[in-house]
Amino acid sequence: MDTFVQTHEGALRLGFFLGIFAVMALWEGLAPRRTLTISKAIRWGNNLTLVAINTLVVRLLFPVAALGMAASASAHNWGVLNIFPIPFWLSVLVAIIAMDFVIWMQHVMVHAVPALWRVHRVHHADLDYDLTTGARFHPIEIVLSMVIKLATIMVLGPPLLAVIVFEVILNGMSMFNHANVRLPPVLDRLLRWAVVTPDMHRVHHSVEDDEANSNFGFNLSVWDRLFGTYRDQPRAGHVAMTIGIHQYNEPKLVAWLPGMLALPFLGKITGYTINRREWHERDDQ
Ligand SMILES: [Zn+2]
Repeated sequence: MDTFVQTHEGALRLGFFLGIFAVMALWEGLAPRRTLTISKAIRWGNNLTLVAINTLVVRLLFPVAALGMAASASAHNWGVLNIFPIPFWLSVLVAIIAMDFVIWMQHVMVHAVPALWRVHRVHHADLDYDLTTGARFHPIEIVLSMVIKLATIMVLGPPLLAVIVFEVILNGMSMFNHANVRLPPVLDRLLRWAVVTPDMHRVHHSVEDDEANSNFGFNLSVWDRLFGTYRDQPRAGHVAMTIGIHQYNEPKLVAWLPGMLALPFLGKITGYTINRREWHERDDQ
């Protein structure tokens, strides 16, 4: 199993990516949830070029990718899951859930820490919300994600199968969650008890600060519910809500690659969220 997964990693990932991309693109084309505000050709061209750049950056900087790290961990008996003699299926399940929790914490962190928010805001500055938004990240954030992922794998020692399954799920769910589609309300409500739906994650892409700082999950919805960051719906509703970031909403800047790459370095270093919060004196203190 491990050798098959290792030899076919590239083909497996590319196959799932293209398959899910095609299905979601077709769904968005046939029944879009919101009218796009700027040209799809411009957005897709620029967002997907950024994806290509990121793929190249990862290839160049990380000769050992996630699977290689998992193989090393298992060869050297590194990681919590390699220490305890637990059944294989349980090890796969625990690894997938643990990696999802780490991704959730990473997402909260890049919103909370002002310097990291500068980098993450490239993802949020997309003026429309569709499946290409799900892959639009600044190369610095991709490198940060990769470092955190490799460290997680070293500490966790997940089976190779869990790593590839998680990568495929994360990639697919990211396209699904960011898609400009709507599920039937009943299905949305039911699914949300377990996983993140497009309507749930769209709240996170609102220009409103309190809405953008909720629903951080990519796969399982439990983390937001458990840690108090869950928000049901956007105040303005899904069709009328504004997507993006208040301060950076010039299409010339945020829809084009040079602007996206420059975005973390623009603006004064005044903070965001943590040190911009308004503190009120309480009478009873
Ligand atoms: Zn975010």
